[in-house]
Amino acid sequence: MNGRIVFATSNEGKMKEVRMILADLGMEVLSMKEAGISAEIIEDGAAFEENARIKASAIERLCAERALAGEAAFEGTVVLADDSGLEVDFLGGEPGIYSARYMGEDTSYEVKNKAIIDRLSGAEGEARSARFVCAIAAAFPDGEVLTARGTIEGRIGHEAAGRGGFGYDPIFYLPERGLTTAQLSAEEKNEISHRGKALRAMKELLKRKLGDRG
Ligand code: IMP
Repeated sequence: MNGRIVFATSNEGKMKEVRMILADLGMEVLSMKEAGISAEIIEDGAAFEENARIKASAIERLCAERALAGEAAFEGTVVLADDSGLEVDFLGGEPGIYSARYMGEDTSYEVKNKAIIDRLSGAEGEARSARFVCAIAAAFPDGEVLTARGTIEGRIGHEAAGRGGFGYDPIFYLPERGLTTAQLSAEEKNEISHRGKALRAMKELLKRKLGDRG
């Protein structure tokens, strides 16, 4: 398929994953930096999908303005954005959409992870259930916005384990594997992760929507 995708993130780790999964679409996939766009977008939605939509639509408008101003490279650009987080059932779904901001953006994950384990003291087995959620939105030049969601189910471990991944990975335990997501290789995690699943679902939506572009 022809055309350009801009993925609204400044996170290179995410870009690597996105490029791997979307490679066979045959479209050019750029980060905001590579596309020459910078913007601070306030994510004030009440759900993952809403935040992803807010980001994707705002960046799509910037691309449309650049196209209108005569920059041909921005014509027909599709903008993707994601929002993700950890939902802990015992904590009523916290930290949820506030996952990055939980206990303050600058607090280390060592501290955040320990705090979550402490808040779950007394909870055993199924009572420790949790999931990572990822919503991805695609904003198109015709104004349409599509979203896809991916999740992975697990449990909050009794202690942090593993050095891979990032964020809450060391306490996200997969009972069927006996490992946390921080103990998986990047490839293993991509195969089963919320983001991998959401991206693959989004790829199918993109194929359906853009399939006639040639
Ligand atoms: P954002 O989608 O980049 O805003 O990230 C939301 C936050 O959710 C991250 O900063 C992490 O705290 C958490 N999170 C999302 N995905 C993962 C993951 O795969 N592993 C660990 N933490 C994650």
